[in-house]
Amino acid sequence: MSDKYDVIVIGAGPAGYVAAIRAAQLGLKTACIEKWTNAEGQGVNGGTCLNVGCIPSKALLDSSHKYHETKTDLAPHGIKVADVGIDVKAMIDRKGNIVKQLTDGIAGLFKINGVTSLFGTGKILVGRQVEYTDHDGNKQVLTTENVIIATGSQPINIPVAQVNGNTIIDSTGALELTEIPKRLGVIGAGVIGLELGSVWNRLGSQVVLLEAMDDFLAILDQKIAKDAKKIFAKQGLDIRLSCRVTGSEVEGDEVVVTYQNSDGKDEQETFDKLIVCVGRSPFTEGLLAPDCGVNLDERGFIFVNDQCATNAPGVWAVGDVVRGPMLAHKGSEEGVMVAERIAGQKTQMNYDIIPNVIYTHPEIAAVGKTEEQLKQAGESYNVGVFPFIASGRALAANETDGMVKMIADADTDRILGCHIIGPSAADLVQQIAIAMEFGATAEDIGMTVFSHPTLSEAVHEAALAVNGHAIHIPNRKKRT
Ligand code: FAD
Ligand code: NAD
Repeated sequence: MSDKYDVIVIGAGPAGYVAAIRAAQLGLKTACIEKWTNAEGQGVNGGTCLNVGCIPSKALLDSSHKYHETKTDLAPHGIKVADVGIDVKAMIDRKGNIVKQLTDGIAGLFKINGVTSLFGTGKILVGRQVEYTDHDGNKQVLTTENVIIATGSQPINIPVAQVNGNTIIDSTGALELTEIPKRLGVIGAGVIGLELGSVWNRLGSQVVLLEAMDDFLAILDQKIAKDAKKIFAKQGLDIRLSCRVTGSEVEGDEVVVTYQNSDGKDEQETFDKLIVCVGRSPFTEGLLAPDCGVNLDERGFIFVNDQCATNAPGVWAVGDVVRGPMLAHKGSEEGVMVAERIAGQKTQMNYDIIPNVIYTHPEIAAVGKTEEQLKQAGESYNVGVFPFIASGRALAANETDGMVKMIADADTDRILGCHIIGPSAADLVQQIAIAMEFGATAEDIGMTVFSHPTLSEAVHEAALAVNGHAIHIPNRKKRT
């Protein structure tokens, strides 16, 4: 361990562990330091994504969806079910087992690829040195040619609703509830609020989401966001926009939240649990020695260029701790890019084509530009929309909510964006992400043969609709 490394990665989330594996694959002597410990106090890899993020939330989304579907959605198929119940402990235990399987898997991948896995805390010192403190407090200074910072992010706290781990919880707490809260409050109707709000709503909680912004899901194409709001309201999610939370009072087992509604009137709502999910901030606590030369930007992210190099020679940073969307796959691709650049390759990831998914039911998925962004940039474009109600496969599955919206450049026909709300949207949008990487036009997708009957046909028809050639819906504009 005292030898010099080519690469030391700090943080073993999806950005860090992928960077470490790729660096080792390229023949670089690599170590990865991770400070996360599990409930038993043992070091674990995987970061937010595997331990308290993407994977456990999807495990609960899938379990709660199966329960809800069995209970309420099977009658149209002629299926009769009685006595459907939910064992919350079994559901939470299943989630825990999946997390364990995957985090153990990373330990295995490190071994196979020859990454030295160090559990403890890393701190960047001046001159390509890293101070490593293990969980017993033993310190050691390691030397390396390159450091990759991948220390991730943490939930943002707000003074008006301080997380106490009991009545007021963050996303991590919302993944560990042992009982279904009767009344669940959520501050922030963003990605986490909608995903975790959906989990508990499906299991029977009355869910109220208090959102400060006037627009719902402002980052999405607004046609999709409007449809989503209607669908979620039908599901029972009570989404209240333009609401400013002004305080919260814990009273016994309840929490009373006060907020100003969209008319500026003071309102109160009492909940059994309150989830605070108002965004995440970059995590750099204790990471940088004062003279190490790594700069932060004005929002506290590590400052990097397009290739993820910091301003300190040999120090790189990837994932949630740097600018850009806080998505696991964005961090992983940055990790690959940096490892390959350290190995002398010229890899440049494409920041314009990063798909984004909200795993509600139906799913919402997007890649590329929204119509609002293109309008604001003064670009000329054509739009094709295909609703799932017109898809034979969606009807067969009784999954007809939503649509595919495709946007292409008016002059070149190159696809600029694709926005989907509907069944399997996450997987459907990936087809267009690949097409965009190859510079495809809407006509290219239109000329591709799609299997019948599939949900993918909705993507095909939306592409055809861009140029007025859709077959299974009336075309808004007739083109030849
Ligand atoms: P992290 O995963 O946060 O990992 C950073 C690691 O660095 C941590 O393990 C931390 O312990 C370690 N660390 C920090 N400082 C030090 C130090 N000084 N020394 C040693 N180790 C250190 N994204 C998606 O793309 N899809 C999803 O479906 C999705 N769902 C999510 C659901 C929830 C509830 C949450 C909270 C997030 C979700 N995300 C999702 C976001 C995703 O989890 C993050 O974008 C991703 O984990 C960021 O990866 P990262 O490697 O940059 O950081
Ligand atoms: P978010 O940015 O998606 O949503 C936060 C919401 O809270 C926003 O709508 C914001 O307007 C609102 N808000 C902020 N302050 C508020 C206040 N004081 N009162 C009321 N509302 C307030 O953030 P998140 O849901 O916390 O998720 C954090 C990050 O994790 C996201 O950036 C996301 O990229 C990532 N994530 C991704 C996925 C996924 O890819 N499926 C899932 C979960 C989380």
